[in-house]
Amino acid sequence: MKEKLVVIGNGMAGMRTIEELLKLAPEKYDITVFGDEPHPNYNRIMLSPVLAGEKQFDEIILNETSWYEENGITLKCGSPVTRIDRLSRKVIAADGSEAEYDRLLIATGSLPFILPVPGHELEGVIGFRTIADVDTMLAAAKDYKNAVVIGGGLLGLEAANGLLNHGMNVTVIHLPEVLMERQLDEEAAKLLQAELEGRGLEIITGGNTEALLGDKRVEKLKLQDGREIDADLVVMAVGIRPNITLAKEAGLHCERGIVVGDTMQSFDPTIYAVGECVQHRGNTFGLVAPLFEQAKVCANHLAHLGYGRYEGSATATRLKVSGVELFSAGNFIGDEDTESIVLKDASHGVYKKLVLKDNRIEGAVLYGDTVDGAWYYELMREGSDISAHRDQLMFGRTHISDAGHGGQDSAAAMADEAQVCDCNGVCKGDIVNAIRSEGLFTLDEVKKHTKAAASCGGCTGLVEQILAATTGGDYSAPEKKPLCPCTDFTHEEVREAIEVHHLTTREAAMAKMEWRTPDGCPTCRPALNYYMLATWPAEAVDDPHSRFVNERVHANIQKDRSYTVVPRIWGGVTTPAELRAIADAAEKFEVPMVKITGGQRIDLVGVKKEQLPDIWADLNEAGMVSGHAYGKALRTVKTCIGSQFCRFGTQDSINMGIDLEKMTWGSWTPHKFKMAVSGCPRNCAEATIKDFGVVGIDGAWELHVGGNGGLKVRVTDLLCRVESREEVLEYAGAFMQLYREHARYLERTAPWIERVGLPFVKQRVVENEAQRKALYARFLESQKIAQQDPWAERTSAEKRIEFVPMQNVANA
Ligand SMILES: Cc1cc2nc3c(=O)[nH]c(=O)nc-3n(C[C@H](O)[C@H](O)[C@H](O)COP(=O)(O)OP(=O)(O)OC[C@H]3O[C@@H](n4cnc5c(N)ncnc54)[C@H](O)[C@@H]3O)c2cc1C
Repeated sequence: MKEKLVVIGNGMAGMRTIEELLKLAPEKYDITVFGDEPHPNYNRIMLSPVLAGEKQFDEIILNETSWYEENGITLKCGSPVTRIDRLSRKVIAADGSEAEYDRLLIATGSLPFILPVPGHELEGVIGFRTIADVDTMLAAAKDYKNAVVIGGGLLGLEAANGLLNHGMNVTVIHLPEVLMERQLDEEAAKLLQAELEGRGLEIITGGNTEALLGDKRVEKLKLQDGREIDADLVVMAVGIRPNITLAKEAGLHCERGIVVGDTMQSFDPTIYAVGECVQHRGNTFGLVAPLFEQAKVCANHLAHLGYGRYEGSATATRLKVSGVELFSAGNFIGDEDTESIVLKDASHGVYKKLVLKDNRIEGAVLYGDTVDGAWYYELMREGSDISAHRDQLMFGRTHISDAGHGGQDSAAAMADEAQVCDCNGVCKGDIVNAIRSEGLFTLDEVKKHTKAAASCGGCTGLVEQILAATTGGDYSAPEKKPLCPCTDFTHEEVREAIEVHHLTTREAAMAKMEWRTPDGCPTCRPALNYYMLATWPAEAVDDPHSRFVNERVHANIQKDRSYTVVPRIWGGVTTPAELRAIADAAEKFEVPMVKITGGQRIDLVGVKKEQLPDIWADLNEAGMVSGHAYGKALRTVKTCIGSQFCRFGTQDSINMGIDLEKMTWGSWTPHKFKMAVSGCPRNCAEATIKDFGVVGIDGAWELHVGGNGGLKVRVTDLLCRVESREEVLEYAGAFMQLYREHARYLERTAPWIERVGLPFVKQRVVENEAQRKALYARFLESQKIAQQDPWAERTSAEKRIEFVPMQNVANA
């Protein structure tokens, strides 16, 4: 006769234990599962993408009801257990039903901690734990405007990002001075904060909540310093507490959690516990990787195999916010016994820190580039000696592979037991077996069969390497790369649909292309917005929610959350009147720093957000318009002194620069676009590292394209030589329009030209005159709208920044 196993908690740890048990001893037990939530078990980790609109609930279900049926499991959904009777070995549920057990498994997880501040019981105050919480947030986003998330940890930021995606004004209140202080050091936390603020989140660090105000529903949050913040919805993400009430009432030994030994047994040997409700060797848990290890050990003992001990786990964390790459593991702060290797590339938003002790990795924080997170984590867990490739370590697995140590080779060399996917507890051996036995060839197939890379996606690169190493040359990489997870369409297909179907609003575009998510994500929204504006400049409706905060407020957000205001200075030439206006504004608004930039402009650095409308009003009054120093747009046209003044100058670079800038300013482009004009081949304006560079030679102008002066320097390609000012303008406009119509959103001219090839550009801009003239005409047509019907006025109600039409600009 079968023994009876009862499970309390139909969540991630409980059901993983049952999955492991079914592998080991499928016939051993009659299993009954009680679940408080009215659903089969789902991937709780993926609630954040569901909230963000990137996944639907159906997609995150781990085991359908049919799975329980097929395995003979009696599932009682929406049926919380209210009592454990240890004497007669049975559990009693809220609906009065009972189930006897020979073994009992408690997997009740944890509960979100709700700060006991006055007002915490008001309507609209919730935690973030279940699909029901997500539904409440989505409903609130439809009816209300202002959300506050208390807690700037992993959960809080994922909640805030999700709500922001649905168009709410979101403020995050975080008590410590840095975000995610349990996973990030200060440097990485600052980068993260700047990125999130750039997307429109308000973040208050060092903020202590005093009370929540409102009659029936919450209306405001009051901070201890007296500030009040509008709040129609308050999400508390300030921590979790193991859910141990039931166990305690049954007389089981509990401290912070249900105390278990290395076999996952409680002090009553017939009762096991796994997951966030347990306390093991003094530790409680909040991530799935350790829970899955516990599940394995527990299943082994339930199967009466009697070996396997749980001895604790290392953990790693990733933030699931689209477009934000962040990884953290182990002792990432370091101490007096450790040393750190740090790589920081602020302008590319990359920060990596590895903490080492005795040539072994103790911890890691990666921001901006997390491709190697899984690899560092593996080296850390295995305690590998890294001295042989210490000097290359920071540049990642692939770099070391170039030297013969890693990449596909190292994936092949990984042990079968090495864990690849921490979210789903999948080892390399599981993946290799599935590839071989099922004949898998694509990443999607591997995801489907093994669940590896199917949750946070952090191990995708590693899974691909294993796939490539296992299948040899047969690995079929995805044929086309979708624009983002919300759609299967590529950038090119989306553009084409916008053109063919005359799509001019985000809603229409998403409906036509059957977007998977109702509101898209931070990757697709700005791209769609750009493609529609570039294709239908006269009709497309600019969507402020699809723009980053910099573009909405006409200023560059800085790491201390102040802003830099940069007025346009045509061709780098200014006047005493403009300088006076800038100086007056700097004094009036007590701007902490006035700085000359490398692009021949003047930065007003350190302006407060609330000052932006007024400082721009003053500058506009003096005839100055925004320099778009923050935008995916024409930035600057830099000039040298030219033939008017220079002893060597052969051409009038100053006036050519001014003409070019006046023709092209205000144009939105796939990425930032910089120009320069040098009056002679000495090239003092550095025109050959710009997106479009003009170099004066005797009696003519050389036109150069596709340069870049950033981290990855690229010298321009010579496009052609022309003679007149009009030709320079025509070729520049045609080139910009070609780039606007063909490059992917966020693709600079340098990689675009490398992708499409210089002949593609030359053919359309130089060789085919009719095509050039048509491109130029379309460029001028869209400029009429960009410059005379400024998007700032059309779309943003939050400021009074006005662009002055070109003819009003004082500068000649
Ligand atoms: C939004 C969100 C994002 C997350 N992201 C990550 C991440 O990126 N990486 C990561 O590692 N972890 C993440 N986590 C944490 C991870 O989801 C948890 O560690 C994991 O779900 C815990 O599993 P568990 O089985 O212990 O608890 P749960 O999954 O919560 O399952 C417990 C179940 O028990 C049920 N239950 C409770 N009491 C009773 C009762 N009396 N009777 C019947 N049923 C009962 C509950 O309703 C629940 O369904 C995230 C969590 C959330 C909420």
